Amino acid sequence: MAPKGDNVVVSNMKLERMLSMKGGKGEASYANNSQAQALHAKSMLHLLEETLDGVQLNSPEVPFVVVDLGCSCGNNTIYIVDVIIKHMIKRYEALGYEPPEFSAFFSDLPSNDFNTLFQILPPLANDGGSMEECLASDNHRSYFAAGVPGSFYRRLFPANSIDVFYSAFSLHWLSQVPECVLDKRSTAYNKGRVFIHGANESTAKAYKKQFQTDLAGFLRSRSKEMKRCGSMFLVCLGRTSVDPTDQGGAGLLFGTHFQDAWDDLIQEGLISSEKRDNFNIPVYAPSLQDFKEVVEADGSFAINKLEVFKGGSPLVVNQPDDAAEVGRALANSCRSVAGVLVDAHIGDHLSEELFSRVETRATTQAKELLDQLQFFHIVASLSFS
Ligand code: SAH
Repeated sequence: MAPKGDNVVVSNMKLERMLSMKGGKGEASYANNSQAQALHAKSMLHLLEETLDGVQLNSPEVPFVVVDLGCSCGNNTIYIVDVIIKHMIKRYEALGYEPPEFSAFFSDLPSNDFNTLFQILPPLANDGGSMEECLASDNHRSYFAAGVPGSFYRRLFPANSIDVFYSAFSLHWLSQVPECVLDKRSTAYNKGRVFIHGANESTAKAYKKQFQTDLAGFLRSRSKEMKRCGSMFLVCLGRTSVDPTDQGGAGLLFGTHFQDAWDDLIQEGLISSEKRDNFNIPVYAPSLQDFKEVVEADGSFAINKLEVFKGGSPLVVNQPDDAAEVGRALANSCRSVAGVLVDAHIGDHLSEELFSRVETRATTQAKELLDQLQFFHIVASLSFS
């Protein structure tokens, strides 16, 4: 349950215990606001399949193990795990081998709504049935499933146990807001802002350092856990600008209407400016260079592909001319990913007020939002050699 909000600062110690996308199936839930992520992931399937073609096939006696890191609780993770396993089955069959049994681990932070995820997981295909029957029926799964709670910035699995790691739209979440960003005495104190978009250079440097430290921990852990000749497909929010204070699509999402809505609450006397300054979105959209430096310094993985990919808009609307729908879509998108943190910082009631102001502001700028809000992603295909 979320803390009440009065005088609660989102303490860094607690971030990994409380961060999650909005659970359940309600209007602002992640499950209902992740169609854009689904579309972006589908537009990259050819890259994922190339990565899977590089994975070494084991003896069919040994289970093949797939992991989705930062799975959240919508349909996206189920769809992707299914794509990965079906592709691997095809590869085995093309060589005339009987496919092995498959195991899939759905991993996320402990506050993730695993209950909703487990409820929408299709039933296991009847073990009396053949693999053909299983593949032919869309609403069954052909793998054993388990949930794994924990931060992907540390170890989650035994050594040498995983064939394929997949992670989409998750690695831009930092393990914490850098401490100096919340420290009034520091030059990195992010006064007047809730995100690094448009922040000063010291703030941006602190965020970049946090991102690189986190990614290094991620790679170090995966290099222990991956089987020899396994592969990893990673996608996270990225930016095209060299300057980290220009966060691109993430900047528009968190640094404009969302940012201004906090100012509205201050002007209306509902929160103090200090309360706002104590809140920062723990997200960093890296440049290709930011990402590459860490992979190269780690040195455990061969880079098959590392590129910036244009994903498109995070807003999926039925009527693009309907400003109210666009405004609502922006507020819901923002809330589905940042709502849990905002609720914890200012309480449910003020959070409701905040997002209603996001919606009003976004509605007046609907056309600009549809034209300008574009997400770019860093896509990395890495193999362990
Ligand atoms: N992969 C899904 C969901 C992306 S949402 C999709 O494609 O739709 C991002 C997810 O990353 C969230 O569920 C969030 O809880 C998770 N996440 C953020 N930081 C994490 C960490 N340190 N360890 C594990 N999961 C994390």
